[in-house]
Amino acid sequence: MRTKEARATSFSQSIIFKSLSLLILSTILIAGISIFFFARGQINTLISWSSDNNRAQLRQMVNAANNEIRLFANRIIFLTHTTEIKSLDSAVAGTYLNSDNIASLFNDDETINLYDDENNLICERENDFADEEVHLHTDISKIPKHNSYFGPWCIEDGHSTPTRIFASEVVKDGNDRGILLANFSFARLEKYFADCKVGKNGFVIAISEKGEILYLPSFKDDGRKLLKITDLGFEKFNPQRYEVPAPSFVKLNDGKEYLVNYEYSHLFHFGLLSLQPKKEIEAMASAIKQSSLLFLIGTSIVTCLISLWMFFILGKPLNRLIIHMKKLTNDNLDVPEIRFGRRDDEVGQLSKAFNMMHSTIKQQFKELQSHRELLEQEVAERTQELEQANQKLRIMSRTDELTGLPNRRNIHECIENEVSRISRTHKPFCFVFIDIDHFKNINDTYGHSCGDIVLKSVAETIRGLLRNYDIVGRYGGEEFLVLLPETDLSGAAIVAERFRKQIEDLSIKYADFIISVTITLGVSKYDGRLGADRSIQMADKALYEGKTTGRNKVVVWSPERTSEEDYQAAAIEMAKHR
Ligand code: GH3
Ligand code: MG
Ligand code: MG
Repeated sequence: MRTKEARATSFSQSIIFKSLSLLILSTILIAGISIFFFARGQINTLISWSSDNNRAQLRQMVNAANNEIRLFANRIIFLTHTTEIKSLDSAVAGTYLNSDNIASLFNDDETINLYDDENNLICERENDFADEEVHLHTDISKIPKHNSYFGPWCIEDGHSTPTRIFASEVVKDGNDRGILLANFSFARLEKYFADCKVGKNGFVIAISEKGEILYLPSFKDDGRKLLKITDLGFEKFNPQRYEVPAPSFVKLNDGKEYLVNYEYSHLFHFGLLSLQPKKEIEAMASAIKQSSLLFLIGTSIVTCLISLWMFFILGKPLNRLIIHMKKLTNDNLDVPEIRFGRRDDEVGQLSKAFNMMHSTIKQQFKELQSHRELLEQEVAERTQELEQANQKLRIMSRTDELTGLPNRRNIHECIENEVSRISRTHKPFCFVFIDIDHFKNINDTYGHSCGDIVLKSVAETIRGLLRNYDIVGRYGGEEFLVLLPETDLSGAAIVAERFRKQIEDLSIKYADFIISVTITLGVSKYDGRLGADRSIQMADKALYEGKTTGRNKVVVWSPERTSEEDYQAAAIEMAKHR
């Protein structure tokens, strides 16, 4: 189970999550803003693009129509140069005009008539439509003879295809002249306009120089009608001057708005008008908007997927690594190595580097552990040695170096213990104060080292005579103090006498000498009213008495001899002490 400490960075705190969210948001924002401005500008771009496109198409069509008309004129001019036509002979020219060669060059409804100088018909190309009516519109006498001439567009009744006259002079020999009059059919041009596509649903209208409609797509289905361009909804339309300098829209009688373009052929006097429904352009713009939106959604989805993928290949492994690291710090170093399969990318390298670091730390930790153990062991040994030295020092500070007996400080501690003990038990205890007689003489006679040996011998002898709980200490130079717990004065006197006797009988060897010494002893009993120090003083007094009365004796200080002054002085001392 995962502990709280072992948890990795939470999803909301993850830097990968934050940066990916930022990436998604910024992508959506940038794409959204771009699409918004792009879509806004798109409609204008579309309009001007469509307008340019339509204009280019119109120019192309005008050129194609011009070429077609020019071709027609050239054919007629060519005919005027043929010997058959130039013969101005009705049989020769007539046969020629109705030959198959000529038929293949002209439409069925196109007539060709040959006139002489006085405008009398010499011959004509016979066809279904050919009749005198065709050129009744034209007063031949008004046709300029010496130049080729195109007449105006002629829309007879609104039901037949519009036509126009083309006339070219025929020069026979010298002064003999005639005129070849042909009828150009608009059907030659209609194919260009019918095939033309202006956008998807747009169309082309052809008009004459007078604004009469030569071609309208609806004519194909509804039949030809006699219409003027103003009938469609245009106001004040001058075919030769009308211009569309910038992309613009016109509203026609059908209630729809159209993007309009216009081109006029000043060479052959006809105009071409292209009309593309505004709705179509708007639909294109909205289609672009929709695809932009789709693009935005697609981009967002792809970004999300990339983010998710990045989270799985980067975020998750890093989290695993963090959990692993936390385990190491929390628990111990004995965590198995972390592995990310055969990954050799940054994550793989990071895990390898971490495993290396882990094993180095483990190794160093082991070494550190053993160092620490060694150090601890050494410290323990040193501490023990120190304690032993301290113990020795303590003993030394409480022991007399020469005799090995408790020193004066130590013996006072023992007295304090004994005093506190008898305050509970109320049992007696006595002091025996011992001083070696004429000890100075021994030093003076045998030397100081001999005096030391004598001191040691006396101390050992007295210690040898004591009970387990009796205590003897060196009190001064050649003075000893013995504590006899649970002993009254008479008992103490006996013990003191035993000391005296034993020392008197003692022979101490020093070099070649046998030395004998005596001691004088003062005995006193601990008196609660006097306190320990003054009780010892009483023993000292007794000792002094022994010294002055011959030495080598035991003098017992009977309590009755203690003066009232001593008690008072002791009381003052004890009060001060408290
Ligand atoms: P009395 O019988 O009156 O006690 O005579 P005394 O000579 O023993 O007394 P005194 O106090 O005159 O002399 C004590 C001498 O003990 C003086 C001093 O040099 C000697 N002495 C004290 N301590 C030591 C010691 O540790 N070693 C040696 N060798 N002599 C010591
Ligand atoms: Mg002395
Ligand atoms: Mg002495």
